[in-house]
Amino acid sequence: MSATLPQHAPTGLLIGGDWSAGDTQFEVLDPASLETLAMVGDASVADGLDAVAAAHDAFGAWAATPARERAEVLRRAFEIMTAEIEDCARLIVLENGKAFSDAMGEARYAAEFFRWFAEEAVRVAGGFRDAPAGDKMIITDHTPAGVAYLITPWNFPAAMATRKLAPALAAGCTTVLKPAEQTPLTALWVGEVLQRAGAPAGVVNIVATSQAGPVSEAILADPRVATLSFTGSTPVGKILLAQTAQRVLTSSMELGGNAPFLVLEGADVEAAVDGAMVAKMRNGGAACTAANRFYVHASLVDEFSSRFRSALAAMRIGPGIDRSNDLGAMVSTGERDKINQLLEDAAAEGGRVDAVSEAPTAGAFIAPHLVHGVEHGSTLTRNEVFGPVAPIVTFEDTRDAIRMANDTEYGLISYVYARDKGVGITVGRQLQSGMVAIDRGVVSDAAAPFGGMKESGLGREGGFHGIHEFLETRYLAVDW
Ligand code: NAP
Repeated sequence: MSATLPQHAPTGLLIGGDWSAGDTQFEVLDPASLETLAMVGDASVADGLDAVAAAHDAFGAWAATPARERAEVLRRAFEIMTAEIEDCARLIVLENGKAFSDAMGEARYAAEFFRWFAEEAVRVAGGFRDAPAGDKMIITDHTPAGVAYLITPWNFPAAMATRKLAPALAAGCTTVLKPAEQTPLTALWVGEVLQRAGAPAGVVNIVATSQAGPVSEAILADPRVATLSFTGSTPVGKILLAQTAQRVLTSSMELGGNAPFLVLEGADVEAAVDGAMVAKMRNGGAACTAANRFYVHASLVDEFSSRFRSALAAMRIGPGIDRSNDLGAMVSTGERDKINQLLEDAAAEGGRVDAVSEAPTAGAFIAPHLVHGVEHGSTLTRNEVFGPVAPIVTFEDTRDAIRMANDTEYGLISYVYARDKGVGITVGRQLQSGMVAIDRGVVSDAAAPFGGMKESGLGREGGFHGIHEFLETRYLAVDW
């Protein structure tokens, strides 16, 4: 059953430095075959609270560990992950379904957070200045927040874990990580990497569970927990914000997206299609950053649609573990069915649905689709599709394109193809999203601030900001 898993692929609970099987287990499926991949320890509420206790016990010593030593643990984790990058990619493919090349890209991105935050751990600066009134010295410093609870989604099982674990550990926090039920194996593997890198017992605790709601609610209600970092859907983010409000916990929220992709008059269509293939098709479209709606200038729409169709049709669809496939499976048949339902809704609303190729019928596969003649405001433009579906809306006036792009409660990322960088930046600065890609199809970089405006989130991960999600600021007023 677990014969296909790489070496070092734990399936238990990690609490206080020890692995245990858990009292019960839940099944993790390979979405390409729908066969059982592994049985994974199913954390109960009591296990979740044991993990909090372990993190709390470990906090004082880890917070007092010199930043350089904490950094070295992270640096070793980067080196181990890099040396074993194919194992990580294989685990991602097996439990998530994505293409091997996407999994390799994710694994490298995930490892990069360990390197980046190893570098950031030793660069946290405070402040020292005269008060304007001249009566005192204002000293500010930063102190680790405490026990951090981390919740991650299934679409980037490695990168979402390291994007939280690395800054938390760099800051001196200890952690309890709850990965998504559908993809716990990669996160457990990351936990084992951190153990081999020298993270002391209790600094990293991982509790996979089939009862996310009750386990999380108990953890968030526990006074030993200081902060929450969540990545997932906006509706679940709102439930968690209500829970954190009960204890006035700080929280960072990386939530859903509905990214517009603008192809402005004068854009380089060939480059725009190359960008669209990445922005739409990376991870089979199951990315919060995925281009969700395409607004294409009327003068370019025929050429863009036809080139985009050819590129999509050339993709090989099949199990991600076969490296010749470009588009793997969706994470589950449930996710695939949701996408098919959105396509039915689009057709009912008058969209011309074009399946550009055929997907294997066994497993959670779906072929890429273009949808033409889509009206702005229709179901497809309002919902996060999370799959290989590209609705195309035509516009004549750039001001309309900007208005339609901003006409959503989401604000994670936008894409602009303009060719003229001045136009791209001018339009980009009018878009209400935390990130804007200009003449390119990907923005993710451990060194840059990742996060959204509006209902796409609170706070930023990565870059210089990420570590501060796990630090409190203290101000000392010194009589001078
Ligand atoms: P989800 O359903 O919100 O789940 C995310 C995580 O929350 C999972 O670990 C899930 O556990 C847990 N969860 C679900 N209900 C919970 C509850 N009541 N209390 C506590 N935890 C709960 O999202 P998803 O379907 O896994 O991921 C897709 C979503 O994530 C999309 O909306 C996507 O845009 C967003 N996302 C955002 C970013 C970003 O950086 N902004 C990055 C990646 C993904 P279970 O798996 O056990 O349900």
